[in-house]
Amino acid sequence: MPLDPNCCSSDQEEIAEWYVMSKLPGDDARAFEEHLLICPNCATAVEDAEEYVQAIRAAARRLRVARGL
Ligand SMILES: [Zn+2]
Repeated sequence: MPLDPNCCSSDQEEIAEWYVMSKLPGDDARAFEEHLLICPNCATAVEDAEEYVQAIRAAARRLRVARGL
């Protein structure tokens, strides 16, 4: 998945999610970080992804607690 620092990818939300979950390969993560500096759209996508990932983690924690794990 080539990332152009000057151009938004069509699946920026997915990429932002991968980035937040540290699932982006190193080169892509670096390219995306550079892109973030100049792209408010993707910066917003990362903020949304962070909220989303935190919500999922909190839910997973509650689930583990509920199951007594
Ligand atoms: Zn962008």
